[in-house]
Amino acid sequence: MRWFYRCPECGAEYDIEPGRYLCDACSAKQQPDQPLEGVLECAWEGSFPGGPDDVPLPVAKEFLPPLPVGNTPMWEPRRLREETGFPRLFLKDDTCEPTGSFKDRASYLVAGFAMEHGITEIALASTGNAASSMSGVGAAAGLKITVFLPKKAPVAKRVQVLQYGAELREVDGTYDVAFDQSLAYSKATGVLSRNTAYNPLTIEGKKTVSFEMVRDLARAREHEARRAGHLAELARKDYVAPDHVFVPVGDGVIIAGVYKGFEDLVRLGRIQKVPTVWACQAEGSSAIARALASGSFGAPVSSDTIADSIAVDVPRNGNHALSKLKAHQGKAVVVTDAQILDAQRELASKAGLFSEPSSCAAWAGLQKVKSSLRPDETIVVMLTGSGLKDVAGAMKGLGLQ
Ligand SMILES: *Cc1c(COP(=O)(O)O)cnc(C)c1O
Repeated sequence: MRWFYRCPECGAEYDIEPGRYLCDACSAKQQPDQPLEGVLECAWEGSFPGGPDDVPLPVAKEFLPPLPVGNTPMWEPRRLREETGFPRLFLKDDTCEPTGSFKDRASYLVAGFAMEHGITEIALASTGNAASSMSGVGAAAGLKITVFLPKKAPVAKRVQVLQYGAELREVDGTYDVAFDQSLAYSKATGVLSRNTAYNPLTIEGKKTVSFEMVRDLARAREHEARRAGHLAELARKDYVAPDHVFVPVGDGVIIAGVYKGFEDLVRLGRIQKVPTVWACQAEGSSAIARALASGSFGAPVSSDTIADSIAVDVPRNGNHALSKLKAHQGKAVVVTDAQILDAQRELASKAGLFSEPSSCAAWAGLQKVKSSLRPDETIVVMLTGSGLKDVAGAMKGLGLQ
């Protein structure tokens, strides 16, 4: 099995090596204040030597850091199933990743890549979760981590960065400013960049969730068959693809990773088709939803939402995410901050799952479109960050602030 980077736009191929981030020809077309041009994808040729539950990844297993990333729980929320009328509703819970967010899936692969290449420092910009994630995962691996974080990032995420022993450079400005500053730092020092979308491994690392979903759903079918005594069902060994997956979207890296995972699963013959993926965005940060409706990205709009982890003016992976959504007939749904806060309380009070506002945009998205789904469909809602990461946001939802 040979791994390489491929530009999904022009098809150019590159070796996977330190210092390679974007496609040379396509990134030359970059316009200011627009999503990244020339984002690369990890690709492989040859046959995958792994077992039926293994995920093909471009970093050798022995370099991955010693902490338990991924393999998160798949919840079967009984009360929410009854109330919504979807008996096959599942919650994929990445709030319980080591640093409390889905970002660990990307940090894990980037850290493994650094270890494999003898790299000792990683730098990145973040709205908060990528910083706390890379800091924690980097701590386990013994890497130096330098983060560029807007001053207004939630305090818990800042404290995590410092507790994990990373170097914190506070940025007087938005995430977009932090992004540019961290890139300038990486370019000047030669330090590996974990900037989301810019480093293709951030997308590849996030695909692991799709592999887990189809395995989790197959296990759920097995449990159900055992309970019901259905022997024929019990003997089945195939995977179960969801019909719908609800994903909170900011820069569009998680959703591109989810798609990449499903594309790989189809290629490996583990599932038949890519599910319907719903890009769930906050009304105050909805560039990808707008682009899906109009066909392309317009001028940037200043983001304004309580959901800090999905608040971006320019979605860095916008072009790549949009082309995946178009290729697979994906859909977008936009929700208000009030709907996000309602979703947060509903998930916490009826399932016992407390997740941060950004991640609750996915639940709010399902609530908004549920009348268009069939009750027998299998639905997975991805919950991507812990509620404890932004207590101030959660207090607003309770009317306490
Ligand atoms: C980063 C993040 C998202 C959005 O991911 P993108 O790749 O930026 O679209 C959603 N939820 C949480 C908790 C996050 O930290």
